[in-house]
Amino acid sequence: IDRLRAGLAKTRGALVERLQAVTARLRRIDETLFEELEAVLLQADVGVETTEALIEHLRRVARERRLEDPSRLIGALKERVRELLGEPVPMAENPDGPTVILVVGVNGAGKTTTIGKLAGYYRRQGKKVLLGAADTFRAAAIDQLVVWGQRAGADVIRQSEGSDPAAVAYDTVQAAKSRQADVVLIDTAGRLQNKANLMEELRKIRRVVGQQLPGAPHEVLLVLDATTGQNALQQARLFTEVAGVTGVALTKLDGTARGGVVVAIRREVGLPVKWVGVGEGMEDLQPFDPDAFVDALFE
Ligand code: GDP
Repeated sequence: IDRLRAGLAKTRGALVERLQAVTARLRRIDETLFEELEAVLLQADVGVETTEALIEHLRRVARERRLEDPSRLIGALKERVRELLGEPVPMAENPDGPTVILVVGVNGAGKTTTIGKLAGYYRRQGKKVLLGAADTFRAAAIDQLVVWGQRAGADVIRQSEGSDPAAVAYDTVQAAKSRQADVVLIDTAGRLQNKANLMEELRKIRRVVGQQLPGAPHEVLLVLDATTGQNALQQARLFTEVAGVTGVALTKLDGTARGGVVVAIRREVGLPVKWVGVGEGMEDLQPFDPDAFVDALFE
C-alpha cells in the first residue's frame, strides 16, 4: 500500500490537494465552487462524463445534507469515487488446465514489462508460467520478453521475427498443455496504424488458441499507459471493440498526475482495472484494490 501511495503522489497533488485548496479558499458552497471543482476534475483526467456525474452528485449531497462547509464535499466525493470503481474483479482462472491470458495494447504502453511482472507474480504463488512471444514484428520485443522470462523463471515460446503470430500462440498453448503449465501469457503486437489488420490478427490468435484449448483465452488483458490520459480511454474503446477485452492493466501510475483515468476507464468504458503498474521493477505491479486506491488517493 505504501508503494501505491507513493505512486499516486502526483495524482493526489493534481486532484485531491487541489480540490482541498479550492474548498479552503472559497469557503462557501455555491455555483463558483462547483465550477472550480469541475475544472480540477477535468484537468486530472477523470473524464468529461464522469466529472459531470460527480459534480451532479455533489450538488445533490450538498442539498440533501444541507451542507455549508465545502470541505465536507471531499469526503462525499471519495465515497462516490469508491462506488464508481465497483468491486474488484479477479483474474479469470481455468480450473481444468492452463489459464490463457492474451495481453494486448499499443507499443510502448508497457506490455512486455507487464507480462514480465505478471510472470513474477504467478511464480511467487508457486505457479508454472509459460510466455508466448506473439509480437513477432519487433525482434527487440521477443528479446525483451526472453529477458523478463529469465528473470521471472518462465520459459518463452518463440519463433523467428516476422513469423505468424497465431502460429506462435498455437505453439505456446500446445506447449502449456504438454508441460502442464498453470498460466500462459501471450504477448501480441500493438500496431494501431492499421485497425483492420490488428483486428484480423487478434481474431486469428483467439481462434487458434480456442481450437487448441476450448474456452481459451480466459482473459484478454489490455495494457494502458496512464500517462497518456484521455488517449488511454480512446485505446480502451478501440481494443474493446476489436479484441473483447476483459480487464485492464494500467501502467506508469507512478510519475503521472493522470491517475484519475482509472475512474473514467471503469465508468466510461465499463472495463475493470485489474492491475496497476507503479514502477519498472519486477514487483511493481499490484492487483487493483479499489479500497486501497481511494484511501491512497484521498488520505
Ligand atoms: P511495450 O512496447 O508495450 O512492450 O512496452 P515496454 O514493456 O517495453 O515498456 C515501455 C517502457 O515503459 C519501459 O521503459 C518500461 O520500463 C516502462 N514501464 C512499464 N511499466 C511501467 C510502470 O508501471 N512504471 C514505470 N515508471 N515505467 C513502466
